[in-house]
Order: sequence, then structure tokens, then C-alpha cells
Amino acid sequence: IYQRSSALFAEAEKYIPGGVNSPVRAFKSVGGTPVFIEKAKGAYLYDADGNRLIDYIASWGPMILGHAHEPVIRAVTEKAEKGTSFGMPTETETEIARLAVSMVPGIDKIRFVNSGTEACMSAVRLARGYTGRDKIIKFAGCYHGHSDAFLIQAGSGAVTFGSPDSPGVTRGTAQDTLLTDYNDPESVKKLFEANSDEIAAIIIEPVAGNMGCILPDEGFLQGLRSLCDTHGALLIFDEVMTGFRLARGGAQECFGIKADIVTFGKVIGGGLPVGAFAARNEIMNHLAPLGPVYQAGTLSGNPLAMSAGLAMLSELNDNPGIFESLEEKTLYLHKGIARLLNKHSVPHRINRLGSMISVHFTDCDVRDFKSSATGNNNSFKKFFHGMLDEGIHLPPSAFESWFLNDALSYEDLDFTL
Ligand code: PLP
Repeated sequence: IYQRSSALFAEAEKYIPGGVNSPVRAFKSVGGTPVFIEKAKGAYLYDADGNRLIDYIASWGPMILGHAHEPVIRAVTEKAEKGTSFGMPTETETEIARLAVSMVPGIDKIRFVNSGTEACMSAVRLARGYTGRDKIIKFAGCYHGHSDAFLIQAGSGAVTFGSPDSPGVTRGTAQDTLLTDYNDPESVKKLFEANSDEIAAIIIEPVAGNMGCILPDEGFLQGLRSLCDTHGALLIFDEVMTGFRLARGGAQECFGIKADIVTFGKVIGGGLPVGAFAARNEIMNHLAPLGPVYQAGTLSGNPLAMSAGLAMLSELNDNPGIFESLEEKTLYLHKGIARLLNKHSVPHRINRLGSMISVHFTDCDVRDFKSSATGNNNSFKKFFHGMLDEGIHLPPSAFESWFLNDALSYEDLDFTL
């Protein structure tokens, strides 16, 4: 039933390393072919072989309202038809900035870039420029994008194949990145004791979505906040995954803790490539042209992407019930999956917060991508293919977060395997 996708993939591999974009490796590790999509609407993907798939990936997170969402299409179409020039000021950028600043706690200004990666890279550069220090504390397993700054010690098997180094990445970055463990306050304290006046910032996924929706222990984020305050370092919340998803104001709203710099991606672009980073005036004014820290981009803040993001954020702002609706659907899915896996005696653990959910297949060695390709992720493999046969498209990973979209009906979240 995936013949045409297989042929398209073989053709793609001739011209694109690995076939298509990076998650392909994960599809291959479960013995699956990436499905080629011809169109998508609401909760459904329609593939090249004519199959209709229910989407539990939401394009890895951005499509929180479902695919081809009318207000977003309308906004982008109107903008494209009107014609506009990139790299010149447009009111759309101000409008989305004003709205984002009103939705997220503790930020006065926001700057737009083209991806979550760029947002995190820029946030770190700003923190270094603002503090005049070089070192960054980062947590093993937290993912902050594919820039050199983070690849070197991503600490996630999914990114580095388990190696602490990535070929081609500069050594200097590694020396300035202090890697430690999530939910281990003592080790963070020790890093500050040893490097106090050299640490520019801590960067963290406030909910570690890339490790499988790991929640911060009670007091952990607050502890990081206090350590940063004591030692004059900045706290960076990477909200690329949690922003505009966990709540209107993201993780900061959920946990009642304010970071100094916040990064965004995924939802903020309405499906187009947008990232952003934000902070209070005092910090943001260090960015050029007001301050010395350089940051710019040819397509940053381009009106097409801004209009998609504006339409998305406007919907979320005007209908805060969407977050509750998504959370209820996620809880429903949680119960259904648990029932199913228990029925088949599959060892698992489900982590969830708001509409973020991840299902850990605890007998799979998820950190070791190479061997999972050769067979130690069997229980997940079986589940993945069983779901695919039922027309349900999951992230091909035995631990990473699934992303629900609000177009999913309760029926779409029911399955009988
Ligand atoms: N930060 C987090 C928490 C992410 O989940 C991701 C992507 O998954 C990124 C950064 C990188 O964003 P992008 O893929 O848009 O470059």
C-alpha cells in the first residue's frame, strides 16, 4: 500500500542525501518508508498511494489547528496576491510582534528569524553579548536545533548517534558548552561554583519534549532561576516546542516562572518557517541596530511567513478554549494507548502535560539509534506498523513527543488493534 511512496523515495535518494529531511533516519530505524504526502487537510494526510492517514505528528508540531487551516490560508493568499517585498518594513511584522508580546509573560520585544534553530543560536549570542561571558549550561537530551553551537553536545542519540562529538563541528563551541543532567540541581550548582563568572546563560527546554516530554521536578526550574539571579547569568527557556502549545503563554505561564530570554518556533509560524526570540527591553536593546549584538536575515520577518503566524496566533489568542480542548483530546488518547499497550503487555510509560504527550516503549533502547535499526526496538516497530496499517501516522520514535492537532475528532483518536 506504499508502493508509490517507495518509488518516490528511491528517486529522491538520488538527489537528496538520505532521501528527504532528517526524520527519515528515524523512519528507517523502524523499517518504515517515509510516506510521500500529496495533500493534507484538517487532521488528515493523503499520500501518494491514495491512502488517508490520521496525523499524530502535525508536521512535527506546527500544525496545532490542523492542516490547510482556512484563516491561515486566507491570510497568506491575500498577502501573496497583493504582492510584497521581503526585507522591507511591513505592518504585519509589528502586528504579530504586538500580539506575541501580549500573550507571553515577561517579554517586551521579539525578533523574528526563520527557524527554531536560528532562534536558539541568536538567543545564546544575545546572552553572551549581554553578559560579556562565554559559557553556556545545557542539559543532555535537550535539543536546541542543528546549529554548531548545540550539535556538538546535543546529548541525544537521535542527533549525534550517541557520540559526544559531531564531525565538522568546531571544538571551541564544545569547550564553552557545559553539559549536565536535566532535573539534577546539584550538578548545575557545582558548575556555577566552578565557573560562576564565566557562565552567560542556562538554556533549557522547560518541558523536555525531545527526551519524551520529561517534566521538570518540583522546584527545578525555580532553582535554575535563583542560580541565574545569584550568579548574574541569564535563563533561556527554549519554548520552540512548548510555546503557544502548553498554554497561551507557554511553559512560563504553566509553571509561573519567567525566563530572561525565550525562544519560539513551530506553532508561531502557522506552518511557514518562522522562529523568534524575545526578552525584556533591557536585554533586547543589546541587539543591533540599538546595541552591539549583530543579528539579521534576508527572509527574517518576511510578510508571507508573518501573515501565517499572525493568523495562527490570533486564533489561539481569541479562542483560549483550544488549549483545553487539545488537552482533553490528549488525555483521551493517553487512556486509549495505555489500554491498548496493557492489553498486549507492552512495557511502556506515558508522559503528558497539556497537549504534549510521549509514549516510551521502555523495552526499547531509544538512545541507541544504530542498534534500534537492527532490531532492539521491536515492540515499538510492531506498534508503529500496526498503527500505520490502521491509517494512523505516528512519529517514528519509541520515546519522542507526539503532536495532536485540534482538527482531530475523538473518533480519530480511537483505535482497535
Ligand atoms: N528547540 C526545540 C525545543 C525543538 O524541539 C526544535 C525542533 O524540534 C528546535 C529547537 C529546532 O527548531 P527547528 O527545527 O525549527 O530549527
